[in-house]
Amino acid sequence: MKSTNSVEAVAARRKQRVNWGTGVFLVIAHIAALAAPFFFSWSGLICAIILYWVGGSLGIGMGYHRLITHRGYRVPKAIEYFLVTCGALALEGGPITWVVTHRIHHAHTDRTGDPHTPRDGGWWAHIGWILDGRAQQYDHATLERYAPDMVKDRYYVWLNRFYYLPLLVLGLILLAFGGWSVMLWGVFLRTTLSLHATWFVNSATHMWGRKRFETGEDSRNSWWVALLTFGEGWHNNHHAYPTSARHGLRWYELDINWLGIWALQLVGVARAIKKVRFDRTTLAWRVVKNRGYWTKRYRRAEARS
Ligand SMILES: [Zn+2]
Ligand SMILES: [Zn+2]
Repeated sequence: MKSTNSVEAVAARRKQRVNWGTGVFLVIAHIAALAAPFFFSWSGLICAIILYWVGGSLGIGMGYHRLITHRGYRVPKAIEYFLVTCGALALEGGPITWVVTHRIHHAHTDRTGDPHTPRDGGWWAHIGWILDGRAQQYDHATLERYAPDMVKDRYYVWLNRFYYLPLLVLGLILLAFGGWSVMLWGVFLRTTLSLHATWFVNSATHMWGRKRFETGEDSRNSWWVALLTFGEGWHNNHHAYPTSARHGLRWYELDINWLGIWALQLVGVARAIKKVRFDRTTLAWRVVKNRGYWTKRYRRAEARS
């Protein structure tokens, strides 16, 4: 007989508990999102598009994922906090919880312990695991183990607890200055679509698409998930080289999040950028670290003097 504390038994128990708070919120968000088209306004649409990019690209793709989870590049602390605060606007939980969940996903991809693998069911990987009462509830030891770099940061500890505050404040501002239409489009419709886009990375890109790299799990490259998530859909590339700040490796693999990081590099803000390159001599992909334009200029000037 299996122990009641075996990994399988714990996993089975976890699936029985429902997070009603999250469930009720998601039902309300979906109803409000469906109502949004009946309150159409051009300002609402423009606001939704801009915030979809701010939350999804600046926040989740460039901030939560490529910057603080994988440390694919570095920026000054103020810019890092700005990007991560944009991430909170996507309402995917606090940064520490998000980072821990995602690092666990990379450590146990499509095996026991993966919080959201489609091997437990496509719907489970998409939304079921979010509704699980104990999902993303970590004890301090787990936080220390998977995010030792973040648990000492007082701003991240605060934002992790009150991650919904930036969106709440933004929602009230939109309501005050733009009215119901702008609030419904900019908050509810935009957040609901953005959540599903991110969830597709957990579900669809572990089920459908092409595999460039044999990674030993189910991650795939999906062009349509990449379009919805500003480049996060090149997920097989990402699992093969998790620290690379660039996920779209070929010219046709559009990766807006990478273009954002590249733009930060051009203006001298992003540095220590890790990137995958195809080495023609060894005929293999490898990660190279780019020090950034200004560091290179500085080093050259230093060498000359
Ligand atoms: Zn994955
Ligand atoms: Zn990742």
